[in-house]
Amino acid sequence: MRGVRTSSRLLERRRVIRESLERGVFDIVVVGGGIIGLSTAWQAARSGLRVAVVDAGDFAGATSSASTKLVHGGLRYLAMGDVRLVYENHVERRVLSDKVAPHLVQPVPFLVPLYEGGPHGRMKIGAGMLMYSALSKFEDGPGKLVSVKKAAALVPALRTEGLRGCGLYYDHQMNDSRVALMVAHAAADSGAVLANYLEVVGFRAAGGPDGRVAGVEVRDRVDGSEYGVDARVVVNATGPWVDRLRSMEDPGSAPSVRLSKGAHVVVRQQQPWQAALTIPLEGGRVSFAIPWEGQLLLGTTDEPYDADPAEVSCTDADVVQILAEAGQAVAAEQLAPDDVLYRFAGLRVLPLGDGDTQHAKRETVISHGPRGLVSVAGGKWTTFRRIGLDVLEKVHDLLPDVEIDRTDAVLPGAADPDSVARVLRASRPDLPDDVVAHLARHYGTYAHGLAALMAADESLARRIHPDGPDVWAQVVYAATDEWAFEPDDVLRRRTTVQVRGLATPEIRSEVAKVLASRSAAALTEPPRAWFGRRPRWRQAAGA
Ligand SMILES: Cc1cc2nc3c(=O)[nH]c(=O)nc-3n(C[C@H](O)[C@H](O)[C@H](O)COP(=O)(O)OP(=O)(O)OC[C@H]3O[C@@H](n4cnc5c(N)ncnc54)[C@H](O)[C@@H]3O)c2cc1C
Repeated sequence: MRGVRTSSRLLERRRVIRESLERGVFDIVVVGGGIIGLSTAWQAARSGLRVAVVDAGDFAGATSSASTKLVHGGLRYLAMGDVRLVYENHVERRVLSDKVAPHLVQPVPFLVPLYEGGPHGRMKIGAGMLMYSALSKFEDGPGKLVSVKKAAALVPALRTEGLRGCGLYYDHQMNDSRVALMVAHAAADSGAVLANYLEVVGFRAAGGPDGRVAGVEVRDRVDGSEYGVDARVVVNATGPWVDRLRSMEDPGSAPSVRLSKGAHVVVRQQQPWQAALTIPLEGGRVSFAIPWEGQLLLGTTDEPYDADPAEVSCTDADVVQILAEAGQAVAAEQLAPDDVLYRFAGLRVLPLGDGDTQHAKRETVISHGPRGLVSVAGGKWTTFRRIGLDVLEKVHDLLPDVEIDRTDAVLPGAADPDSVARVLRASRPDLPDDVVAHLARHYGTYAHGLAALMAADESLARRIHPDGPDVWAQVVYAATDEWAFEPDDVLRRRTTVQVRGLATPEIRSEVAKVLASRSAAALTEPPRAWFGRRPRWRQAAGA
């Protein structure tokens, strides 16, 4: 993991974070601010527990911003015969899109192209589509087979030679890092203290060096300081690093998981698509081509991985493979290597086993270590709320006084994005439609807070790059309210500048300046009335 740039003002902010963590009395410290750690923290905090979350890098900086961005039932589970899992995932998908995060989770139709000589026949796919939609109670309409003509109208770049028709089914998609940020907001709103760039380097022990785990030793990756944070329970939600933390608890612990790398690329989209593609490949894998953030997201690969998780990357060979696999169904003109805007890779955490990684179940494993460390690994983004609750159940054995809140709390900003856009358009008729839609879909009602920032300083209504819908108000908000320290935090995860291939050196340097100056300004600024609360880190620090 990388180091972080420093300025005297950012250092002051780290000092405040340290004070709040050292002074705090925590029931749980969650190690790892990917979606599983953030969800666990959210569920625990709203159940009344005192919670801290620390991440060695940025929140959602690892696997949780490297997914295929699907909120889905899981077509592959249907192929594996796990009907119950598909049903449960569909239920969760529906709750997220209808209630918990309607601003962040959008429906997408998917086509499964069926070519002559391809791995699947029409009958099998037709039945599969129907079954998949039946398991979601036909709430998006029935899955079915559609003609080549209809399919080509939905996906203009679809290769039609040898095409015999397509299956059609429905799932949802999201911007994974923005959803994770909203879960971080939710955890903080419920009272959790969150700190990124804080690496756990050891555990505190009660009653002697081999006693029960009673907190964490951390190293601040911004200012280099080291200190301890006490807690009754420590949750290890470090994803691909899960066994590294387990061996800090018990050096003799055997490995519990294996890793598999999945890479993606984002390419410039030449014409809008009305549907995504799920392209069946030989051997049972599929490759996706999904309209996402106005571009096309392609992938993913599935290869065993045993190097350092921090070094995972999408190589040139991965790009060649991904473009070739997409090319089985997408016209070559849409897949020019020069049109690759962004590439990324992440690691699946799979239960140990002998079979190949492609057919391994994406199960969640939650375990108690010999000194009380609770470790969670694996599972799906789609079911993050349920995984958080499952972890809390395990913690319950150690903290029996907690009463778990299982109600469906909504994420901050939750609202119909079209309604948000209507109100925003009325208050800021000068904002272009793509900017309005972008803010409504990524911030929900918090978009009105961004509009208030723009009203206070009109220069913040400018686009960060002329070819993208992100505006400078988002950068300021990232610095003051969304824990951003590094330009990458802003450009890759709080906004979509980098995934659109628009992060020029000039923009990076401007963003760095905003981070340094606005982080400092927040130390003395009055509460942000338009968001109805103070900046996150001040709240955490009790400042
Ligand atoms: C290629 C790919 C595609 C996927 N696509 C989908 C999809 O479309 N839909 C879906 O539902 N699921 C998908 N998944 C699964 C989903 O992305 C993961 O299950 C989820 O992101 C795992 O989150 P996590 O919090 O466990 O791990 P991570 O996001 O990796 O978080 C772990 C965190 O722990 C931190 N950490 C590590 N060591 C320390 C330490 N010592 N101290 C402090 N912090 C530490 C890291 O910095 C990191 O931020 C996909 C997974 C992959 C790999």
